[in-house]
Amino acid sequence: MPQAFTNEFNYRHLGFAVFMGVIGLLINLFPIPLFANVALVLGNTFTVIVAILLGPWHALLTAIIAVTGLMLVWDSPHVYLIFTLEAVFLGLARRRDIYALYASGAYWLLLGGPLLYLYLHAFVESPNGHMPFAIMKQVINGLICSSLASICIILIPALWNFDGKIKDKHRRHFSSQLTYSVTLLITLSLLFSSLVYNYFSLDKQQTLISENLEETAEHIAKATEKYLNNHINVVKNAAYLISVSETNASEWQTWLSSIHNNYPSFSTMLIADPKAIVVAATPKALFTELNKNKQLASIEDREYFIQAFHHQQTYLSAAFMGRGFGNDPIVAISAPFYAKEYSDKSEQTPIGIIEGSLDLRNFDSIDSHNRFREKQGLIIIDSNNKLVYSSSSLKLKLMSDFRYSDDHQRFNTQLNLININELNAFTPEYIFAQRRLPNGWQVFVVDPFSPLMEVAQEQLFNSFLLLLISVFFSFIISKKISQLLTEPLKLIAHRFSQLNDKELKEQLLDEGTPIEINSLYHQLTMSKNQLITHQLELEEVVAQRTQELEEANKKLLILVDRDPLTDLYNRRYAENKFAELRDYCHRSGQAITIAILDLDHFKQVNDTYGHQAGDECLQMVANCLQEYFTRDTDIIARFGGEEFILILPMSNALHIQQHLNGFREALAAMVICSPQDEITFTVSASIGAITANADFDKSLDKWLKIADDNLYLAKDQGRNRVIVSVIAEDPLE
Ligand code: GH3
Ligand code: MG
Ligand code: MG
Repeated sequence: MPQAFTNEFNYRHLGFAVFMGVIGLLINLFPIPLFANVALVLGNTFTVIVAILLGPWHALLTAIIAVTGLMLVWDSPHVYLIFTLEAVFLGLARRRDIYALYASGAYWLLLGGPLLYLYLHAFVESPNGHMPFAIMKQVINGLICSSLASICIILIPALWNFDGKIKDKHRRHFSSQLTYSVTLLITLSLLFSSLVYNYFSLDKQQTLISENLEETAEHIAKATEKYLNNHINVVKNAAYLISVSETNASEWQTWLSSIHNNYPSFSTMLIADPKAIVVAATPKALFTELNKNKQLASIEDREYFIQAFHHQQTYLSAAFMGRGFGNDPIVAISAPFYAKEYSDKSEQTPIGIIEGSLDLRNFDSIDSHNRFREKQGLIIIDSNNKLVYSSSSLKLKLMSDFRYSDDHQRFNTQLNLININELNAFTPEYIFAQRRLPNGWQVFVVDPFSPLMEVAQEQLFNSFLLLLISVFFSFIISKKISQLLTEPLKLIAHRFSQLNDKELKEQLLDEGTPIEINSLYHQLTMSKNQLITHQLELEEVVAQRTQELEEANKKLLILVDRDPLTDLYNRRYAENKFAELRDYCHRSGQAITIAILDLDHFKQVNDTYGHQAGDECLQMVANCLQEYFTRDTDIIARFGGEEFILILPMSNALHIQQHLNGFREALAAMVICSPQDEITFTVSASIGAITANADFDKSLDKWLKIADDNLYLAKDQGRNRVIVSVIAEDPLE
């Protein structure tokens, strides 16, 4: 049953499509990471295989299953649209004998690319610059899958050898087969090698950037620590110097100025008494200003006073806004000092504190002196997570809380990635290295991530461009190579389609023709020459045979119509000819005479003169008949034995009796000589005849019957006589 057969078939195809879909799904679950968010997904290869083997609708099924793997990984429903459409497109193209890779290229150009663009534009918050990159990734991925599928089918045909798969409708040209194979090879090798090369080159760059960042971070952390320690030591030593020197409060202002002169990194310095009143401060102009506002002169509430005076320790503050001495963001370093007699007894109450304010903007010098790369930026935060310093390029506000996000697991890279401006953006902003200082401060060195992305994009773009150029050249080269083979073949085919053996002797192929084709040509030439010789011989034999046959045929025809003894027509001929003659006479309204002639007492002739003489007699009667009835239209036939029949068209009814009697007399007068004993004798004949219009009767038998009756009558009446019935009008009509 054909129907049942088809159904069973479809189930098998359906099973195959589902099976391929499941494999595709599993493979899609594990994208091969290349760089950042670039990964190779090869599961769609199986969709393409089904599209090539079974067409669009099975491919659609496979795609829906396989793409579910991508959906699970990427969590983006657009994959269903883009990849199922691709499957149907490839399947439809396959039905038109279009190769999968070409169809894939066309799909991404006409549908996949634009659709992806619209999708990204509408639903994905990604900077516009990334758009071409995102699309190109998909295109390259699509092309790789199609190439892989095509190569799988070409290289292992045994795997896909099942009934009912789609076959090419038209035989393909060798040039297009070769071009496709070369294009496949170039696409796959070029894309794979460039992806692998890009992977390693980006990996190397990442390592370099990471190492550089780590080094810079280390360096800057050390420099920052040293910078802070130096200034802590300055304040500490200054406090010690005040403690051990004999200076009194009136001299502190001058003394402080001289220290400040040596350490210009401090934006301001001050000395406060136990009541937390600033008693000396530099620069001096600010001190004068400060004195005018007594309220500001008290630093009782300041952490640096409390820590240094009450807790008696050298203190480095967190970042805070200065007050009184300008409103700059600063860190303060403070230390207690003591009266000289207590200077080495720390348990004694201090007589004041000395403080130096480091303007946070001064960290710029550390930044500019220690950074290796122009684009790198430096961030320093204090133990309260406040921004102590950030490079101006980063556009962060000093003293603000440092907020960042470093969750970039979806970006496949070993780099430490961080966002400090747009915390929720998918694309990382910076690569960073981080160090923690002993005082709880942290140093971040950041390098913009986008240049690396740009390099990756540029590499991918270049690969794609290279692919287009290579495919273009592969087209030209394949065409040339295939011409090497096909052109001579075409020439050979053309040459051998003509039977001109002269041309065969001429050299047809030039030196560029491959050996195999040249030897094929020579073998064909030899075969053709042999064939031509054979053909000529055959033609000769056939001509000879035909001539012989024709002659034999002629003889046969004569034999068929003639009586061998008398060479007269035979009965069969006479009977056949009657209809023709009757028709002819019928058309012209003429009469026909049918006469039967029987030799009289012929038995006796045989008995008396021998059988041979009888034969001789018959032949002479025949001659006599032919000599007497000379009209072309008269038919004289031997009817059998010694009986003859005469068919005489266009007879004249009035003269027929006489005409027949004339013959009877001529015959009776004819002398016959026996060949054996040369005895002569004569014979007579009785003739029964009928003369009637041609339309008397169609059947010869009717005519013969009347003639025969007349013959019988003639015999009966004494032989050697003629009896004719003339039938003027057809009794039947
Ligand atoms: P009738 O006048 O009544 O016709 O007498 P007949 O002897 O002719 O009688 P019939 O017609 O019956 O005899 C025919 C004879 O013709 C018989 C046969 O011996 C002879 N005959 C028939 N065919 C041939 C032939 O081909 N050659 C020879 N030599 N004799 C033949
Ligand atoms: Mg007879
Ligand atoms: Mg007879």
